[in-house]
Amino acid sequence: MIIIKSPREVELMKKAGRVVALVFEKVGPLVKPGVSTKYLNDEAEKVIRGEGAIPTFLGYGGFPGAVCISVNEVMVHGIPSEKIVLKDGDIVSIDVGATLNGYVGDACRTFACGICSERALKMIKVAEECFWNGMTKVKAGVHLGDVEAEIERTAKSYGCNVPRDYTGHGVGTHLHEDPYIPNYGKAGTGPILCEGMTLAIEPMILEGKADVRTLKDGWTTLSKDGKLTSHYENSLVVTKDGYEILTKL
Ligand code: MG
Repeated sequence: MIIIKSPREVELMKKAGRVVALVFEKVGPLVKPGVSTKYLNDEAEKVIRGEGAIPTFLGYGGFPGAVCISVNEVMVHGIPSEKIVLKDGDIVSIDVGATLNGYVGDACRTFACGICSERALKMIKVAEECFWNGMTKVKAGVHLGDVEAEIERTAKSYGCNVPRDYTGHGVGTHLHEDPYIPNYGKAGTGPILCEGMTLAIEPMILEGKADVRTLKDGWTTLSKDGKLTSHYENSLVVTKDGYEILTKL
């Protein structure tokens, strides 16, 4: 069941979303060669708690970090670690969830660490472009499949792939609500978007094949072929004429 939020709930979600955006503003500039992903995690947690919010991912299904930090071939759910030290040329996605007053904001950015190759920078750009192209389709009355198909079309236009089993989702009082939002789909199919639906749309992009695998830690999910990956996400509310991003300052 897709839960429609009242204007009052949307206002609360904007407050949670603002905390997430603040993390990117504060922690993004700390992505530098020589820094561990544990350090970035701790700085992100300080920002979240400093705003009176709770890191949504900490303990979610047993996840041990405050945020997910996924480097290069790691697509999602990277566990922050002192042993993972960033190098010049890495691309680093930081996926942040913040719960404030019972509502969740969820977003992700992929950052360039130091001087990156054209190939790495392209991956960052493709994930962002997939998101924003998908967003051009979002408004009340359209099929969710229209959005998904546009994300997939954009990824393919760059010769990239999207995973089959990792998707965006509804968001609200819970991190994961209906509907599931794959990064592929068929226009004219799927649920019809309504005003007040709150969604986390999150293109995950694979430079090579669509196949991924998960490490023995049960979380770290990476491209099977070892090629680069990237990830971009915002939480948003569907409006009559389009949408409003919730995870912004
Ligand atoms: Mg998400």
